[in-house]
Amino acid sequence: MPKVYIETMGCQMNKSDTERMLGMLEHFGYEETKEPKEADLLMVNTCSIRQLSEDKAFSLLGLWGKWKKESRPHIKIGICGCVAQQKAEEVFKRAHYVDFVLGTHKIYSLPEIIKRINNGEKVCECAETNQTEDEKAKEYSIDRVKAVNAWIPITEGCNNFCTYCIVPYTRGRERSRQPELILKEAKDALKQGFKEITLLGQNVDSYGKDFKDKSYRLADLLKELNAIEGNFRIRFVTSYPTDITDELIQTAKDLDKVCEYFHIPMQSGNSEVLKKMNRRYDRETYGKIVAKIRTMVPDVTITSDFIAGFPGETEEQFRDTLSAIDEFELDYSNTAAYSPREKTVAAKWVDKFIPEDEKIERLARLNEKVRENCLKSNKKYVGREMEILVESFENHKGKNIITGRTRNNKLVHVPCETDRTGEFLNVKITGCKTWYLNGEIVD
Ligand code: SF4
Repeated sequence: MPKVYIETMGCQMNKSDTERMLGMLEHFGYEETKEPKEADLLMVNTCSIRQLSEDKAFSLLGLWGKWKKESRPHIKIGICGCVAQQKAEEVFKRAHYVDFVLGTHKIYSLPEIIKRINNGEKVCECAETNQTEDEKAKEYSIDRVKAVNAWIPITEGCNNFCTYCIVPYTRGRERSRQPELILKEAKDALKQGFKEITLLGQNVDSYGKDFKDKSYRLADLLKELNAIEGNFRIRFVTSYPTDITDELIQTAKDLDKVCEYFHIPMQSGNSEVLKKMNRRYDRETYGKIVAKIRTMVPDVTITSDFIAGFPGETEEQFRDTLSAIDEFELDYSNTAAYSPREKTVAAKWVDKFIPEDEKIERLARLNEKVRENCLKSNKKYVGREMEILVESFENHKGKNIITGRTRNNKLVHVPCETDRTGEFLNVKITGCKTWYLNGEIVD
């Protein structure tokens, strides 16, 4: 059996694509290996959100190219994901030993590509499309990573063109996958024993906007998923603030399987900066959306994303970001220093770039604020009883511990002598640290 190794970088969307590509390859006789030196087919599924990750992908290709030249001429090498989509044919100039480049739009072309490279061709499949690959997706199973949570993409691409973001250039225009296929993938995952379904998209709330033949949105999909029998949870990420409708909040609140968790990137706490980022809301509007969700959904966790040192951001504007985290009581935020990406509008504002050391200093202050608020948020739950879904079991410094997640996405460590992974347990929260809660099982 030929063996395949895929190195996956970046976001959950890439991880989900890798699971799908492995499913296709297994269908054609490949076996996955975790050891690149054993593989006949080596692939890197790339991310282009930051320069660092792009550089890492090319250095990995360089290493594999060396193996091919020096000792393993039979191996085939491929690059897929966002860097592949962006660089296309250029990859062959930079790394002549690469056999194929597969962009993000047509991952279901992989079987055909494998046939062609095995006949000695070099293949670049990076054409854009405004369609999903739903029909082809039905033909293959998905080789999901063994876990309790199954990721299911519901939209691909994005139409928003935030000035710092490369996604619209690498993932194309927004396309919604058909509900029937999503429901099938969810049922299959539940049959395989997964206990949680996370719906994925750059902008999940705009799901269905592009359907010409029906009026069907995220709230409708949630209702149909919720009606599937069994004990499981449903989550959805990522939400664009102004696309969150009252109907969606109410639906999420009413449905018993949908978790009390919203991830709503704010990116900056300053309205002027938001305008320059081409975000379609200001500080006040974002605050109102968060307040509405908090009023309607008790115990909801709201997390966000922020960029430090966007071109032209003043110290005062950066402080607005820090104060927004406090004012809107954001439970946790992902953070990053601004990194210019080719083709994006903000990457051209070179004269406004913030010096590297200043960006790093702002990022450190931002991270400190995130830590402070995360701890504050965790403290609210000490003494409470909560349900967790157990995700792992390990021995930590001589103690057996299970780790689970509450409905509102808090991690809880609980002493436990047996592996209870995949079970729903009630725990009492006995204490907390910055990033997690401690608990004990309630009989
Ligand atoms: S909404 Fe998100 S994915 Fe779309 S362009 Fe903006 S940051 Fe990028």
